[in-house]
Amino acid sequence: MLSTLEWLECSRCRAATSAKEPRQLCRCGGVLLARYRLEEAARAMTREAIASRPPTMWRYAEVLPGSADPVTLGEGMTPLLPVRFLAQQLGVETVLLKDEALNPTGSFKARGMATAITMARVHRVRRVALPSAGNAGGAAAAYGALAGIGVAVFLPEDTPEPFRLEAAAHGADLHFVRGDIAECGRAMRAREDAEGWFDLSTLREPYRLEGKKTLGYEIAEQLGWSLPDVIVYPTGGGTGLIGMWKAFEEMEQLALVPAGRRPRMVAVQAAGCAPIVEAFEADAPAAAAWEGARTYAAGLRVPSPLGDRLILQALRESGGTAIAVTDAEIAEGQLAIARGEGIFACPEGGATLAAARKLVEGGFLRPSDRVVLFNTGTGLKYPKVPGLQVP
Ligand SMILES: *Cc1c(COP(=O)(O)O)cnc(C)c1O
Repeated sequence: MLSTLEWLECSRCRAATSAKEPRQLCRCGGVLLARYRLEEAARAMTREAIASRPPTMWRYAEVLPGSADPVTLGEGMTPLLPVRFLAQQLGVETVLLKDEALNPTGSFKARGMATAITMARVHRVRRVALPSAGNAGGAAAAYGALAGIGVAVFLPEDTPEPFRLEAAAHGADLHFVRGDIAECGRAMRAREDAEGWFDLSTLREPYRLEGKKTLGYEIAEQLGWSLPDVIVYPTGGGTGLIGMWKAFEEMEQLALVPAGRRPRMVAVQAAGCAPIVEAFEADAPAAAAWEGARTYAAGLRVPSPLGDRLILQALRESGGTAIAVTDAEIAEGQLAIARGEGIFACPEGGATLAAARKLVEGGFLRPSDRVVLFNTGTGLKYPKVPGLQVP
């Protein structure tokens, strides 16, 4: 199975860049998007051919970079579980939970790191660095270890211990920074040139997005090549949301799904860090940096997402929305999933249920809708649920 990766297109100025060298952002500052020879891919990617392939995200090899020789731990093809108890509670007919905790390293960050580290190896990159709230660092450390690539991770100093231990166990270099992921990014970039690190930050590197987009392919395949009505996504950097939107466009061109029937996309953020919600409500094309970001849902503590324009564009084009939930609502969502469905979701997963409740109240979610919620990772790496009494 071979990749049909052809070139990189700037999402802002549309300039074309070769994919043969390691790349970061476009010269104009825009995010680069991988483009494929989709006509050629369509001939190989029939529904039947895909169904016969191993159950990992690499079953979509033609539209992934570096798929001839991937750095893989078997990521992808996670369960899309019908959560009947939650559906009944919400009063929505079909609620499905995409359980990304079952990925290697316990979160969906594995998808993006598999493609990013694969391409780093293709381009003979020796050392990479990234800021992380926890899961990205653990995943980068694991895939870096497998590929023999050095990984430096910049983490907020209040990062829960399991994330630190995981990255350290895989041999990553850890750096702790006072502040949030934005400060971690600044601290990292200050040393980048001197250290010779290749920057693996969300969307500054074009291939993490490609791994994340497989969420869109999988949901479609798991629904018999149809798409749900609504997707509720916990949005930090927004890679998964931007990635799924890109996947839907590709899948239409590949004739894997009918055109013009895409889901309404919902970005869920924490009330203590909601730059996308603020921009969406103000009808702004871009988000302003959020001051004093606070939430225990670490993956949502992203005060200035680089992909803000692309996130907002997908929300608007899809007829979707953006919604903030408080930490107390997130905790309640986490416990409802744990007690109703037997899944110890991460806080970000709890946030999607909390958002769904509000969307039902507000009338955005209708009883007849087919809705996908996301559990983006395991709750076990940051198991303290605010308010949970433990004897
Ligand atoms: C990183 C992360 C998120 C946010 O993902 P983005 O694609 O950056 O928006 C959500 N949940 C968990 C568990 C994460 O690790």
